[in-house]
Amino acid sequence: MLELRAITKRFGEVLANDHIDIKVEPGTIHAIVGENGAGKSTAMRIAYGFYTADSGEILVDGEPRQIQTPHDAIRLGIGMVHQHFMLVDTMTVAENIVLGAEPGSAAAIDLAKASEEIRALSNEFRLSVDPHALVHDLSVGQQQRVELLKALYRHARLLILDEPTAVLTPQEVEEFFAILRRMREQGKTVIIITHKLSEVLAISDDVTVMRDGRVVGRVKTAETGAAELARMMVGRDVLLRVEKPDAKPGETVLSVQRLSVSVAGGERGLRDVSFEVRAGEIVGVAGVEGNGQTELIEALAGLVPPARAGGEVLFRGRDITKANARDRYEMGIAHVPEDRHRRGLLLDFDLSENSILGLHYRKPAVSAGPLLDLRGIRARAQEIIRDFDVRPANPDLPARALSGGNQQKLIIGREFGLNPKLLLISQPTRGVDIGAIEFIHRKLVELRDEGCAILLVSAELEEVTSLADRLLVIYHGRIVGEVDPKRATQEEIGLLMTGGGKANAE
Ligand code: ADP
Ligand code: MG
Repeated sequence: MLELRAITKRFGEVLANDHIDIKVEPGTIHAIVGENGAGKSTAMRIAYGFYTADSGEILVDGEPRQIQTPHDAIRLGIGMVHQHFMLVDTMTVAENIVLGAEPGSAAAIDLAKASEEIRALSNEFRLSVDPHALVHDLSVGQQQRVELLKALYRHARLLILDEPTAVLTPQEVEEFFAILRRMREQGKTVIIITHKLSEVLAISDDVTVMRDGRVVGRVKTAETGAAELARMMVGRDVLLRVEKPDAKPGETVLSVQRLSVSVAGGERGLRDVSFEVRAGEIVGVAGVEGNGQTELIEALAGLVPPARAGGEVLFRGRDITKANARDRYEMGIAHVPEDRHRRGLLLDFDLSENSILGLHYRKPAVSAGPLLDLRGIRARAQEIIRDFDVRPANPDLPARALSGGNQQKLIIGREFGLNPKLLLISQPTRGVDIGAIEFIHRKLVELRDEGCAILLVSAELEEVTSLADRLLVIYHGRIVGEVDPKRATQEEIGLLMTGGGKANAE
């Protein structure tokens, strides 16, 4: 169906694609995997005519083809769904789909006829999208299906999907994969870019692995496994499962009693949450995003105005309900925030400066008298860069110049280095490559074993279940259950996460 031959593409100094060969058989689901920056999106954007290659050849149906623009690609039956949707909020599904697809003026388009066609396509692939709905009213998962419909409406035979599951909840991923399988049954060909190995194994027939701009492996999914794929992606063996001894919890470090947080608009927020975290244990919080996790962590970090919070927070027996963020930080409460751009870093400041954010008033580590100890700060930054493998290893670069994964390693290095008594950590490995995920997980367990109390929030169910010693499930702002992460099945936890379980919190 599609073949890239020796495709090469440079962006300035960066060789994004270096003689890439990819061959996609018709009627299959083909996964392209690799770490961030491996060149996956570039290769597929070339196939879609979004970029033109510096050299190399593209074949469609075995014939060499010129694909200079997306228009050329669409004419050849190639559609692409980008990571960021390109829909107009204020228009209906049908209007969005027809927009740009029909020749002639907008007035001349027969929307009623188009809507019928869209409904038929939606039924054929069981997308359950209403052509008359406003895009504004659709969930992210539904918007993604509109993007699929858009490609199908333009008669795409090959659909290229760039990290389609990044925006979906675990339940939505299941439904989405069912749709992809139906497409394959109907003879469509699908290319899916992902860096999640479990997804590759669940959905694909063939896999192309990329690393550093090159293709480093081509395998049949049935003949490979997660360990082999990870090795090819990273270029070395990767420990995929967290190996940790049982926790030896000590005294209670954090005690949360009937904590509530109100949010503008009323409904969600956090309601009457009570739990404890002890020294030397990791307490995980599982839940679909937006169920109160953000409010919980921010309230504990002291970032919620007291007027919006109710209940009590005790830290090592002391009531800190009214303490502000800086006081809590100085007491030994570290915070790795979910939104690293808004809360974790100053993007225009260099790595040295970022390595002491929040600590600059501390003595003697960084502050020598009234002046900052610049040499000490630089040395501290270099230590973090070395210990946490931050790349590029240059303390003078602005934080903005780092990939998301490396920014995260810098924040984690800074916070872990405080020897905190309590760590509040959200989405520790979001956007982080699998090699670095292994590293971060190992560091978390080390910190636990040094006696730190850890409260871990993650939308990745696998991550919380494998790291947590105890697991709380949050739903609609309440803790709806506590499970033993070693025993509970994904289904049980998934049911609690979606409000299906028995509410047995108190
Ligand atoms: P992946 O999708 O595997 O994460 P990409 O194809 O997006 O990787 O990127 C490959 C490399 O090319 C990266 O180093 C990236 O920074 C660089 N790159 C991608 N697109 C551009 C662009 N438009 N301009 C400059 N550099 C780019
Ligand atoms: Mg990409």
